[in-house]
Amino acid sequence: MNQNLYTVLASGFPRDPAAPCLILPDGRAWTYGDIERASARMAGMIVALGLKPGDRVAAQVEKTPEALVLYLASLRAGTVFLPLNPAYQRHELEHFLKDATPGLFVCRPQVRALADELAAQAGVASGCTVLELDDAGRGSLIEAATPHADEFATVAREKDDLAAILYTSGTTGRSKGAMLSHGNLAHNARTLHEYWHFQPNDVLLHMLPTFHVHGLFVACHTALLNGSAMFFEPKFDAARAMALLPASTVMMGVPTYYVRLLLDPGFGRDTCRRMRLFISGSAPLLKETFDEFKARTGHTILERYGMTEGGMFTSNPYEGERRGGTVGFPLPGTTIRIVGAGGTAAKTGEIGAIQVKGDNVFLGYWGMPEKTKEEFTADGFFKTGDMGSWDAEFYITISGRSKDLVITGGLNVYPKEIEELIDALPGVAESAVVGLPHPDFGEAVTAVVVRQKNAEGRALTEAGIIAAVKDRLANFKVPKWVYLVDELPRNAMGKVQKNLLRQEYSPMPKR
Ligand code: AMP
Repeated sequence: MNQNLYTVLASGFPRDPAAPCLILPDGRAWTYGDIERASARMAGMIVALGLKPGDRVAAQVEKTPEALVLYLASLRAGTVFLPLNPAYQRHELEHFLKDATPGLFVCRPQVRALADELAAQAGVASGCTVLELDDAGRGSLIEAATPHADEFATVAREKDDLAAILYTSGTTGRSKGAMLSHGNLAHNARTLHEYWHFQPNDVLLHMLPTFHVHGLFVACHTALLNGSAMFFEPKFDAARAMALLPASTVMMGVPTYYVRLLLDPGFGRDTCRRMRLFISGSAPLLKETFDEFKARTGHTILERYGMTEGGMFTSNPYEGERRGGTVGFPLPGTTIRIVGAGGTAAKTGEIGAIQVKGDNVFLGYWGMPEKTKEEFTADGFFKTGDMGSWDAEFYITISGRSKDLVITGGLNVYPKEIEELIDALPGVAESAVVGLPHPDFGEAVTAVVVRQKNAEGRALTEAGIIAAVKDRLANFKVPKWVYLVDELPRNAMGKVQKNLLRQEYSPMPKR
């Protein structure tokens, strides 16, 4: 059987080609038939441009139906898709194009001149074609695809053939291209579709960006495999979510989306009357948000955990207890081990390094065999770089990235433990704990704290926060420095950018 991911997804498309696939903000819909025909035309165009299976198609475009069709067309043509965040600037783009040497680069019209220049320098032997797609889904990409046939025989692919390369955020050193195969993506899509009990009449509220594993793979694949309609919104907007939730059954979001919905006093049970499932991931969901959401809506958010290098690894159960502050259990087909002190299996409650193995785990980093080797153990487990622990019932809790671990006076401090204590103080909205260089201790525990916009928030002081946590923590864990700020820097996926905090307050704290 053809293992092309498109063929796998299309096996779930509805029999009726007039069934809606993407519902746009203006109410227009793209049917499944539209998606099949448009992706056929674009796949025909990719082949006509001279790209062969395995060649790369890079896209730095906004989220539109045409952009999703380009991804599907790339799958159908057997080429390797490279979604790029529209926020990337010149030097980042330069690196991606030189590294991945695409044969086609689809860009936004406003960066056309730069795209031409970088494509010419990218060193692609047979040349890199540049086409445009604007934020309204128009441009030379569409013009080039239009003359091609509405039907296309999806190119046969094997399980290990590459489907996509996703660049990791690369906060230190060179950003690496994670190579994902048709088999990796199909395995994860099928697993999540089943684990989350997708149902015939599901409607997905899709407000995530589509250059990332969460929005492009987790959200789109499960909906397509289910033949479902998606409300396909360009970005998250709480008012739009309020308007669309009553007609939706499933929402996938980063924690910030749920925090923002809760800020609307009108958000509650009535808004969620048709909803079946809220899923959260990409960053930790605060227990407070989890609890408040349950109290306001009656829904228990299902938190899951994964990463670019393999899609989803764990999930809270669909049936059974969804435990706040945890990311649930390993998904079927994924093996997880947590390696504690001394390199042996971590005991219950002991924090260790999370390693994973499974058909969803990526093939390696593009053009970096040495780096790939370093990131896998001799027995084939991928070292995620995340730290975590099992509880007595085998729910997993993530404690943070190993590189965010603070080592002060030779002792390990897990930021999450301190953040949870500070977050629970009256007047605190949220916090982030990082290690900053310190002449005596190597690193000093430093808390960056966001105040609530109320009297309790205004009353917070740096010394007051230190005093409040002092009795509850071993001395070496007590923050040496506290900074009060209005907000934490976050990336598009809602992750706190601790590297920016370390830069902002280093080399030495401001006092
Ligand atoms: P990305 O590759 O951009 O998807 O980032 C993956 C990283 O996000 C993981 O390695 C974790 O550090 C973090 N992450 C994803 N989901 C969760 C979660 N539910 N809780 C805590 N961290 C998460």
